[in-house]
Amino acid sequence: MKVPGDKSISHRSIMLGSIARGTTVVRGFLRGEDNIATLGAFRTMGVTIRDEGEVILIDGRGLHGLEEPSDVIDCGNSGTSIRLISGLLAGQKFFSVLTGDQYLRRRPMKRILDPLGRMGAEIYGRMGGNLAPLAIVGGALNGITYESPISSAQVKSAILLAGLYASGETTVIEPHLSRDHSERMLRYFGADIEAMPNGATVRGGRELQAREVCVPGDISSAAFFIVAALLVPGSELLVRNVGVNRARTGIIDILSAMGGSLEMVDRREISGEPVADLLVRSSRLKGIEIGGELVPRAIDEFPVICVAAALAEGTTIIRDARELRVKETDRIAAMAANLRKIGVLVTETVDGMEIRGTDRFKGGEVDSFGDHRIAMSMLVAGLVADDAVTVNDVDCIATSFPNGAGNDPRKGLIIAIDGPSGAGKSTIARLLADRLDYLYLDTGAMFRTVALMVKRSGVSIDDESALAEVCNRVNISFARSRDGGYSVFSNGEDVSHAIRTSEISMFTSRISAVKTVRDILLRLQRKMGSAGGVVLEGRDIGTVVFPDADVKFFLSASAEERGKRRFLELSAKNEEITLQQTIAQVVQRDAQDEQREHAPLRKADDAVEIDTTSLSIGEVLTSMEGIVRERMA
Ligand code: C5P
Repeated sequence: MKVPGDKSISHRSIMLGSIARGTTVVRGFLRGEDNIATLGAFRTMGVTIRDEGEVILIDGRGLHGLEEPSDVIDCGNSGTSIRLISGLLAGQKFFSVLTGDQYLRRRPMKRILDPLGRMGAEIYGRMGGNLAPLAIVGGALNGITYESPISSAQVKSAILLAGLYASGETTVIEPHLSRDHSERMLRYFGADIEAMPNGATVRGGRELQAREVCVPGDISSAAFFIVAALLVPGSELLVRNVGVNRARTGIIDILSAMGGSLEMVDRREISGEPVADLLVRSSRLKGIEIGGELVPRAIDEFPVICVAAALAEGTTIIRDARELRVKETDRIAAMAANLRKIGVLVTETVDGMEIRGTDRFKGGEVDSFGDHRIAMSMLVAGLVADDAVTVNDVDCIATSFPNGAGNDPRKGLIIAIDGPSGAGKSTIARLLADRLDYLYLDTGAMFRTVALMVKRSGVSIDDESALAEVCNRVNISFARSRDGGYSVFSNGEDVSHAIRTSEISMFTSRISAVKTVRDILLRLQRKMGSAGGVVLEGRDIGTVVFPDADVKFFLSASAEERGKRRFLELSAKNEEITLQQTIAQVVQRDAQDEQREHAPLRKADDAVEIDTTSLSIGEVLTSMEGIVRERMA
């Protein structure tokens, strides 16, 4: 899978793009509410920012080009927006006011106001300057050396951004180095900045240059799926293209120390940030002690770490994490309360908690406290609970998963591939999906899985209501493996091989003629494909499932050739069958598929037909990709 773009890097791309010279191109931008708040803030200050779907284009106005906003800037729920933008605004020659929602207006601002005040900034707020709204009278700033009492990327970044406008050098020193996304992106944009083991120094006055920023997947969003894969028995998950900045990989170190099987694959650097694919396998976890420098490196992941700890063997002790009490909500109190509701023994401490691991969670009703990470963490707990875990108030999840959890914000075409058995549909559909970075949906495998389950249940094919019941109970999922292969799961069982015997093939053609079965799978296929960015392959995709598909193909080949292909497949799996038999089976299945009453196999009028009899896979693929790309353009 892929996860949405990194929230921190998305914020910073807008901020630096806005004050750079030239047009900055941002790919993989996270359109979460927090990032949209940052985007809105800079638009209010006269920056032209265009959202073109694939990319965001920012017409930078240079270091001194921002305009005085004519209204209050609303940062919504976003702590990053209000704190970083405050630093930036401290150095402007104008007046501005920043505010946010009821939660943000309760979060402490003194931590940035103190150092910015020492640089000469004039900032006012409620409660003696600790709470928003903040009124900022921008002006000349002096560089300072600030020894921060806490490790906080927001504090450090606010000071460094102010430092771009200050005279001389501005240095921030932290107890432990917090996330260095700001430093990396500042350097990438050409700022005069130097990193140190426990801080950074920036020299003011130098203009930034526009860049192309490719935002990696957010490890904080990946964390929920990583923990889910660790906890759900029999899982193997590859999360592609995740940012693995050392300041963020505390989650990997913690889960590995707990005994989790976690690997970073194919490490590389993109737009100044380290990126890798993460491979996770379910593991039996054990409790550990977590504190010190690990804490800031995993600060956002604690809610889901708590869930992992709650299912580990032994006790987990979290300390030095007082910061969690002033996040979107008090995450220590929130997780303690929620875990207790599902049967876990938790003791809160001032700066952390003690979690006694258990074998199982019971179901229960829990609260998100309006915090996206609490909501997602409790949903992960629900995956492995004995009964349903109901999480109230989950709209907040849109903060980090604007397109729904687990989905790439992929937009794209719907591509339908139909044709008779053995025409090469599945191989070609899968490769085409890979080339386009689309989802591949094998609808034949869905019918096959239902057929297998019907066969096993012993239900009669004529008993429609019993068939419907079996159908509705089947929970089909697909998983890609690292080598490009893929597996089909039915209620968690890997049925990839069981559904491909010639016996099940023949039975599938009978089952797939039953209207009840088709209706249930039709709904499922539409649901899985309607977001686009998908290649669907089957018999009735272009005619029934997606009659408005953007591109339709109909693959055919002579019956001899198709029978030969099936024969090679089946004999590779040691099934005892002759070539003559497979040809006969292919012909019989075609006849059943073509002659059935509901959604028979036929070519859609607007489908491009390709006869693959004497073509190689590469040739077919190239011509299909050409047609799709043309359509995209
Ligand atoms: O493509 P595959 O050979 O795996 O499909 C197995 C069977 O499932 C087909 O022979 C056909 O009877 C049925 N099927 C269908 N409609 C689809 C996909 C497959 O009826 N969209």
